[in-house]
Amino acid sequence: MISVTIWNEFQHEKIHQKVATIYPTGIHQALAEGIRCPDFSIRTATLDEPEHGLTEEVLRDTDVLIWWGHMAHKKVDDAIVDRVHARVLQGMGLIVLHSGHNSKIFKKLMGTTCALKWREANEKERLWVVDPTHPIAEGIGAFIELPEEEMYGEHFDIPTPDETVFVSWFQGGEIFRSGCTFRRGKGKIFYFRPGHETHPTYHNKDVLRVIANGVKWVAQPGGSKPVYGKSEPLEPLNK
Ligand code: ZN
Repeated sequence: MISVTIWNEFQHEKIHQKVATIYPTGIHQALAEGIRCPDFSIRTATLDEPEHGLTEEVLRDTDVLIWWGHMAHKKVDDAIVDRVHARVLQGMGLIVLHSGHNSKIFKKLMGTTCALKWREANEKERLWVVDPTHPIAEGIGAFIELPEEEMYGEHFDIPTPDETVFVSWFQGGEIFRSGCTFRRGKGKIFYFRPGHETHPTYHNKDVLRVIANGVKWVAQPGGSKPVYGKSEPLEPLNK
């Protein structure tokens, strides 16, 4: 069983009618319903909860954290960001969605600005699978087509990803590395681009499938336990 915590800032849904119509119970609930399966134990957390719902106890019990944020990145407490960062280094998986590229936690883990080009013009996006061997693409065809999305374009200021699973094409001509993996410490990270709040992207079954695949991929089955620091020789060194 994989313990999944879905974090959503949950602000747009409370103040923008169009977003509330698409996600009446919030993006976090749509994601929870969309990826629900017997392998996942799912809880949600939001910005306005005490400690943003990300207490030490919750994070200790989280194998995979999913992050959606946009208008309130600056309101996320630095102490909570440090706590999430430490858990990623310890081995917690992290999936950062869409405008989460600009979140404190993603920028801290990447070490770059994570800046990109953007445009809200309700244009078509085609996410091409560029690594068909990757488990995150399991069950997806050659591409995913979204009739209307926000455009994100290169250059995307991230470190070179460990793996690039999707590259997006937009109707306006831009391209974007829209599915990227990274490792930090013992933790695995998956960045997945789609999910602008005014489009019903998190009701799309292929998008939800990729996120569910991502949960399984970033979850850690354990791995080895590395040893650091001053070290005694294993064999006699005097000849
Ligand atoms: Zn957006």
